[in-house]
Amino acid sequence: MSNDSAEVETAGAEVKKTFEDLGLLPQLVEACKKLNFTHPSDIQVASIPHALEGRDIIGLAQTGSGKTAAFALPILQRLFAAPQPLFACVMAPTRELAFQISEQFEALGSTIGVRCAVIVGGMDMMSQAIALSKKPHIVICTPGRLIDHLENTKGFNMKQLKYLVMDEADRLLDLDFGAEIEKLLKVIPRERNTFLFSATMTSKVEKLQRASLVNPVKVEVATKYSTVSTLLQYYIFFPLAQKECYLTYLLNELAGQTCIVFTLTCASTQKLALMLRNLGFEAVCLHGQMSQPKRLGALGKFKAGTRNILIATDVASRGLDIPSVDIVINYDVPQSSKDYIHRVGRTARAGRSGKSITLVTQYDVEWYQRIEHAMNKKLDEYPLGKDKAAVLMLQERVAEATRFAHMQLKEELANAKAGGVGKRKRTGAGEGPGAEQDDEESVNKRLVRKGNGGGRGGGRGGGSSRGRK
Ligand code: AMP
Repeated sequence: MSNDSAEVETAGAEVKKTFEDLGLLPQLVEACKKLNFTHPSDIQVASIPHALEGRDIIGLAQTGSGKTAAFALPILQRLFAAPQPLFACVMAPTRELAFQISEQFEALGSTIGVRCAVIVGGMDMMSQAIALSKKPHIVICTPGRLIDHLENTKGFNMKQLKYLVMDEADRLLDLDFGAEIEKLLKVIPRERNTFLFSATMTSKVEKLQRASLVNPVKVEVATKYSTVSTLLQYYIFFPLAQKECYLTYLLNELAGQTCIVFTLTCASTQKLALMLRNLGFEAVCLHGQMSQPKRLGALGKFKAGTRNILIATDVASRGLDIPSVDIVINYDVPQSSKDYIHRVGRTARAGRSGKSITLVTQYDVEWYQRIEHAMNKKLDEYPLGKDKAAVLMLQERVAEATRFAHMQLKEELANAKAGGVGKRKRTGAGEGPGAEQDDEESVNKRLVRKGNGGGRGGGRGGGSSRGRK
């Protein structure tokens, strides 16, 4: 094994290594087994032995590669050898990702009794200060809130820190967390290990690497624009006016499977979620205008399987660890190839198979072709065959559900303006119009039962057309 080119190791990984082979403690191997990790993933094979040797790591790995366990396992092993509070700090770009990382640390570290604290914006400072005073081993944070605590929470510092992890570093820097990272680097010990994980190696990431890592080992398991081979990627081309119909048709076809539908805007996320619920689908939405508890609530329902469709903006496309998502639908074509990779990376994770379907209208062709060009790959057309006629049969019902969704949104807006937020959960606001709700279902079921009696029947007529934004 060469010290500085772990890529070589990855390429030669035909004989599958075991977690024991990587030098992990039996307790951690046991934890991996409990999570049904049969073999380490490529990024784990490539990085864990170096990390256990005490090297800094720069890991270029796509989402779904198993990168969280790649940095969590060595940290846990070292923690077990020398337990101490505030042993490691993991910085993540989004709150959801921070919670997921914490879940993985807790699952992998359950056998060694690890304690974690998640310190992210949108949550109560005081209860976070209490959590920090209980001396957790691992702090998982978004950078802004961590700095807030370092500056304002009495008695809290990171002078003992042994590990710093910057996860999704490209995204951290895209979101302008550079200044916070710099501040943190000034108040943590130089004598530490640093792991920097990123999907892409941008010039900003390179700069950060130079500023924060010492003689790192570079491990890479994916090229810049590539998707895993177990992912089947399709597109469907149709006129914009039929967009909602095609989505409804697909979700009907894929009934019972877990699906994330990506849109570009919060508004369309809300509207689609309402429309789909009006048609009887179990849909929840996730977007940046929802409060943190609402976001976690929606995600929790989706993860627990009580809802099988998640309508999300790109806030959800990065780093969210939602196991066994079967399908990703790009309702709106993503605005960059990078976003495409991250969205479809929600399926076909860690060796499993998955499917992505991108909806392309006459207005999206240029964007779509850019993505194909960046990936150097032509996608197949989704095999609809004679079913095209069946799609259009849905028009009348879809148009009705869309009209009703508009009404619901208007009602919510009016309620919010009148100061009734929270009182009118019936049609689902809570956090701005159409945010995730439970109690709206009774309303929605009215529509479902109306007319054709079934949840997802056919019909003919109208259809609605919408702009992309
Ligand atoms: P990540 O890339 O860290 O977001 O991980 C993606 C998913 O893969 C998570 O659901 C992990 O629990 C899972 N995972 C991580 N390592 C393995 C492994 N060695 N075998 C199977 N699943 C894994």
